Amino acid sequence: MDAYTLKEKKNTKELHIFKGIMTSEGCTSNSTSICGKMQKTQSQGNIFTCNDEVEARIKSAKKGRKVCGTCVSHLYSNY
Ligand SMILES: [Zn+2]
Repeated sequence: MDAYTLKEKKNTKELHIFKGIMTSEGCTSNSTSICGKMQKTQSQGNIFTCNDEVEARIKSAKKGRKVCGTCVSHLYSNY
């Protein structure tokens, strides 16, 4: 099952989504955001971690325009 983590980027405060896989010990996240514009090392904190696609959509929508549009659109096109 896919897991999504929303991270805040240092300096710009942009929010980008990282995709990973749910495991029995939690979840993983890729080293690069879905859009490719942010590295994990540029993160200054998580907004949420290990959410499924539906939860990630709802929480990203609540954050509004700070969330990267490319990352968000991936949540809606993944059928
Ligand atoms: Zn992004």
